[in-house]
Amino acid sequence: MTSGNSRTRNVLISGASIAGPALAYWLHRYGFRVTVVEKASAPRSGGYPIDVRGTAIDVAAHMGILPRLQAAHVHTERITFLDPDGAEITTLAPHTLAGSVEGRDLEVRRGDLTAILYDTVRDDVEFRFDDSIDTLDQTDHGVDVTFRSGVHRTFDLVVGADGIHSHTRNLLFGPESRFHRHLGFRFAVFTMPNTLGLSRELLMWNAPGRSAALYATGTRDDDLHAFLNLHAPEGTAADGEPELPARRESAEPDTDLITSAFTDTAWQIPDIIDAMGRADDLFTDTVAQIHLPAWSTGRTALVGDAAYAPSFLTGQGTSLALVGAYMLAHALASHPTHTAALTAYDHTTRPFVTANQSLITHGSAALFPTTAQTLNDRNKRLQTLATLPTPTPRPAYTALTLPEPPPTP
Ligand SMILES: Cc1cc2nc3c(=O)[nH]c(=O)nc-3n(C[C@H](O)[C@H](O)[C@H](O)COP(=O)(O)OP(=O)(O)OC[C@H]3O[C@@H](n4cnc5c(N)ncnc54)[C@H](O)[C@@H]3O)c2cc1C
Repeated sequence: MTSGNSRTRNVLISGASIAGPALAYWLHRYGFRVTVVEKASAPRSGGYPIDVRGTAIDVAAHMGILPRLQAAHVHTERITFLDPDGAEITTLAPHTLAGSVEGRDLEVRRGDLTAILYDTVRDDVEFRFDDSIDTLDQTDHGVDVTFRSGVHRTFDLVVGADGIHSHTRNLLFGPESRFHRHLGFRFAVFTMPNTLGLSRELLMWNAPGRSAALYATGTRDDDLHAFLNLHAPEGTAADGEPELPARRESAEPDTDLITSAFTDTAWQIPDIIDAMGRADDLFTDTVAQIHLPAWSTGRTALVGDAAYAPSFLTGQGTSLALVGAYMLAHALASHPTHTAALTAYDHTTRPFVTANQSLITHGSAALFPTTAQTLNDRNKRLQTLATLPTPTPRPAYTALTLPEPPPTP
């Protein structure tokens, strides 16, 4: 194991959410000089809960952050499913559904994870907030970067960790539409007042093609995370692959489609739609995956959602980001050239990514049935689950054995 290969010492990472700071941590530990550029003015603090499971727990343990993640664990006590009239179908323990290992796998607010990762590395690497990459120019010797702020710098390697709508990927590989695989749903998330007095629980309402959830990650004094999901197929291309929709980010959230679909008067739907209209943290997008035939070109690479977003339907985006960062840093530290390292990163990590992306296919999300018949079938399965022993965890979560980490500094 080398301490950062001789030709790749100086690395720029775009994005400071999960994959970016995790990669920065590992590269620093291997002896690289690291700069992270983030377009937001501070680490993102958005609070929706995300899962960290299986191999990603091992990454967190190697980073020494597991005790802090365990302290931040959300401890959801139950998930209650409601029918279209708002009547209860069944109540389950969360790990029964996710196939998680109770007591080992974790659920934390995304902002908490980002803050923990950022704290771990903030003193060791340079962070440039409120800035982004404008242009990238690869030469034989490095990558010349112009930042939006006007600053010019040269790096040995540039890594895009800037999420599903990655600007770095657009610069390197072309338009998102080539790699974006629509999964047939459109969603909105936002916070709203906890008028129901919910505490550490999730209520999930389903009608065919529509679902709404209220998630209390705290106690009855804390706001709720509201979630609306709508079956929104966008047609299929001639070859049977889902048609590629235009990129839609949330700068100007488009809620018309969702508002016009959720006209139900049952349960809390009118209040949730009303709260969406008033929310100041509304985020909407299509549910999609990113599939790229290669995650690198020359002296540039991608990690996390930018390279292989699996969608929240798999619950594995965060885990892929943490594991991908670990594998990329290890490859860069243990190969003599960036070319060999980036090939090894792809070779060693792709089967894990594929296994996790394959947990879901177009329109097939088990929790979000799109017809009355599939909703009925799902409800029957849920009622049986309540009486079954805890299922075995999904093998995809642990489908990679990590190489040894470097000695603890
Ligand atoms: C509603 C919702 C629920 C989810 N639930 C789960 C779940 O239960 N489990 C799970 O594992 N995953 C879940 N995910 C997915 C998870 O959030 C992502 O997979 C994960 O955050 C990916 O991390 P990342 O660091 O690759 O990208 P991101 O978290 O998307 O971060 C990208 C970063 O890059 C920055 N950035 C973007 N563009 C630029 C630019 N041009 N220049 C500089 N910086 C830029 C952004 O500001 C951001 O900080 C969910 C996602 C959503 C939206």
